[in-house]
Amino acid sequence: MDYRKAFQVEPGARLRLSSIDPSCTGKHASHEAALPQIQKHVARMDALQYLLYADAKQSLLVVLQALDAAGKDGVIRHLFSGMNPQGTSVYGFKQPTPVEAAHDFLWRAHRRAPGKGEVVIFNRSHYEDVLVVRVHELVPRSVWSKRYELINDFERMLVRNGTTILKFFLHISPEEQLARFKERLEDPARQWKISEFDYSERKLWPDYVEAYEEALSETSTKHAPWYVIPSNHKWFRNLATSRIIVDAMEEMGLELPPTRVDLAEIRRKYHTAEAEQAKASSGRRSARARR
Ligand code: AMP
Ligand code: MG
Repeated sequence: MDYRKAFQVEPGARLRLSSIDPSCTGKHASHEAALPQIQKHVARMDALQYLLYADAKQSLLVVLQALDAAGKDGVIRHLFSGMNPQGTSVYGFKQPTPVEAAHDFLWRAHRRAPGKGEVVIFNRSHYEDVLVVRVHELVPRSVWSKRYELINDFERMLVRNGTTILKFFLHISPEEQLARFKERLEDPARQWKISEFDYSERKLWPDYVEAYEEALSETSTKHAPWYVIPSNHKWFRNLATSRIIVDAMEEMGLELPPTRVDLAEIRRKYHTAEAEQAKASSGRRSARARR
């Protein structure tokens, strides 16, 4: 199954989330069956991140959006924990601080965009400004509706500057969300994740679906596509997301940069140093033996 083809929101098309089954597991039957593949993808992501960092000519931006409990944190923990922290960072978008709110809505996203050689994961993103902001009427329609175009321009600029952008919407059903809220309630290790807003936001599900459908339809472009990932099964979410990331990174043409030094000359220096070190060490050994 080509996950990029299967789950990409076709640029220019109108997305209907109801047409995508959040319980889809492709041809895989179980977590056990998929685990070796997930591990292979994660290992490949780590190797490619090493090349990206060494090459330092391009960057990768991964945007994660979803309703509560869909698994943004899980994707980050399971798929990115192997990447070298040197060159990888995660930024979580919360309610804007007063300083952020005093700027245009893209300011805080632009400040955290990856530099050359870096991977950045947005846990929520500038898309909140056409999602939560729309659903809660924090600004009028005349303001948020013009943001799709601004987002597309912003992302095109990042792409032209060498950034690969991958945007994932983790798609779960309301039943699955409730099951996960129950797990949180019953598992003391997860209770810290519970927010009073979880249930009031849940009531706004249809409004969020409408906002997501429009946002993803308006901003899935050839240069920065959206993928709707069936996420009722955590393992399938991890499998499909990691496969798409690997495929996209493979296409970046990442290579180790050529050495900037004369290796023959450096080898000569090494051998001289090695001979000197051997002489010094044997001198110390015979001095100790004499004592
Ligand atoms: P969490 O991801 O659970 O830590 O929650 C972060 C909260 O910040 C979510 O409820 C988001 O909807 C909210 N948030 C993020 N960006 C914005 C924004 N631009 N305006 C208002 N709320 C936001
Ligand atoms: Mg939350």
